[in-house]
Amino acid sequence: MGGKEIQYIKEAFDTNWISPVGPHIDRFEKDIQDYAKVNHAVALSSGTAAIHLALIMLGVKQGDEVLCSSFTYIGSCNPIMYLKAIPIFIDSEWDSWNLDPDILEEAIKDRIKKGKRPKALILVHLYGMPAKLNKIMSIAHRYGVPVIEDAAEALGSSYEGKQLGTFGEIGIYSFNGNKIITTSGGGVLVSNKKKYIEGAKFLSTQARNPAPHYEHSEIGYNYRMSNICAAIGIGQLEVLDSHIACRRNIYIHYKKNLERLGYSFVEEKSYVFSNRWLTTALIDPEITGRNREDIRMHLEKVNIESRPLWKPMHLQPIFKNAIFYNASVCNKLFESGLCLPSGSNLSNDQLNSIITRLTL
Ligand SMILES: *Cc1c(COP(=O)(O)O)cnc(C)c1O
Repeated sequence: MGGKEIQYIKEAFDTNWISPVGPHIDRFEKDIQDYAKVNHAVALSSGTAAIHLALIMLGVKQGDEVLCSSFTYIGSCNPIMYLKAIPIFIDSEWDSWNLDPDILEEAIKDRIKKGKRPKALILVHLYGMPAKLNKIMSIAHRYGVPVIEDAAEALGSSYEGKQLGTFGEIGIYSFNGNKIITTSGGGVLVSNKKKYIEGAKFLSTQARNPAPHYEHSEIGYNYRMSNICAAIGIGQLEVLDSHIACRRNIYIHYKKNLERLGYSFVEEKSYVFSNRWLTTALIDPEITGRNREDIRMHLEKVNIESRPLWKPMHLQPIFKNAIFYNASVCNKLFESGLCLPSGSNLSNDQLNSIITRLTL
């Protein structure tokens, strides 16, 4: 926390705006719009809820195919399953670890040949690193596939100076406890198109039609963010840039000390800016003499937590029969990649002791 959050929460308590609506939600949405330079935003209970509503807004229904990065967190694609739609997973490329544009095009062509034009693409910017937006957006336009940007991990990252989450028809951010900023749990859906935001807001509040009695002509959800969570979010947005500066420093420190010792990192291209949500490294056992798991356990022994990269979706038991367009890049990433401790409150001493342990 930055410090001001508790003041905004107290304000909400003092004025008795607890839930479900209140002035802090309106302000938080406005602050997100200003930060990301996007026209509209609706604050929700989670990033997953935001993706669910985004898919509904794009008209995804039972049996429709939805393209998604395989290398991601399950929250990206569970909403496809809520709608009984069909996920089509796409492999990553080495440069950014995100969706491979060439495989994407191949997959779209193949689906169209089979008579199934994908209804949407969920494009993930993993670990805060921007995907190859220029190429991906032009392919998506060419084949008429609308894009949902899953920028859950990438708030504050940009591509050619434009904030991630604002390239697609709809973008989403998450404020879960592990993200770059948090509302304790929450998400937001952003778009430059008002119709999506109005529609998502309506569905997120149980699809209540305007009437003094409670009238419903559609199935809705209880997905709105509470005013208290929004109060935390206002305070967190004030410290977002300093969190990003922290995370980027942590990355630089790891890179400087580990790069020649068998650890490799995703580089920023000249036209991107990454919030460096987590510092992630690929391990070359030829140089380190240890594989990813050896190194993870080596840290664990002195109570330093690190984690493997996200396990790709096509390798998950629940998706074992799913269609996957494959160049086996994300399998390799998963095999040799490690997320290093990257919290914004990591002290220099802690960072140095992690590095010492990694070089031992
Ligand atoms: C965290 C995350 C989500 C889901 O957000 P929640 O707020 O936890 O529901 C979706 N996609 C990615 C890539 C994430 O990291």
